[in-house]
Amino acid sequence: MDYNNEIEILDNDFPEPLCAACGQQHSDEENHFYAYTDEVDDDLTCHICLHALVEPLDTPCGHTYCTLCLTNFLLHENFCPVDRKYIMLQSCKKSTVLVKNLLDKLLVICPFSEYCQDVLPRCDLEDHFLNR
Ligand SMILES: [Zn+2]
Ligand SMILES: [Zn+2]
Ligand SMILES: [Zn+2]
Ligand SMILES: [Zn+2]
Repeated sequence: MDYNNEIEILDNDFPEPLCAACGQQHSDEENHFYAYTDEVDDDLTCHICLHALVEPLDTPCGHTYCTLCLTNFLLHENFCPVDRKYIMLQSCKKSTVLVKNLLDKLLVICPFSEYCQDVLPRCDLEDHFLNR
């Protein structure tokens, strides 16, 4: 699987510790990376990174993006990527608990598939690493 190769390459090139939340190597400006078992519903997909939302943020025009994706996008632009309506980061609000709960329930595969075949809700991954 490509997935395993990727982890090995990252391990060799970057000696820094893996992210405690998602178990992957990434910078603070990048979202956590998860391997979902199922295709994620379009309503729960960020239309900037095209992955399931991480820390969702609602725009006044009714669209939702990952906080990091939208923050990075609005460094250079001042419109919503979907409908191009004028928006400011300050006018965007965190998504409702309902949306967060749906995202938390998405099933992800433990990235340490060499030793672990666990499939678990996204919100349980961080605890799973601690109890490994
Ligand atoms: Zn992470
Ligand atoms: Zn995103
Ligand atoms: Zn919009
Ligand atoms: Zn595991």
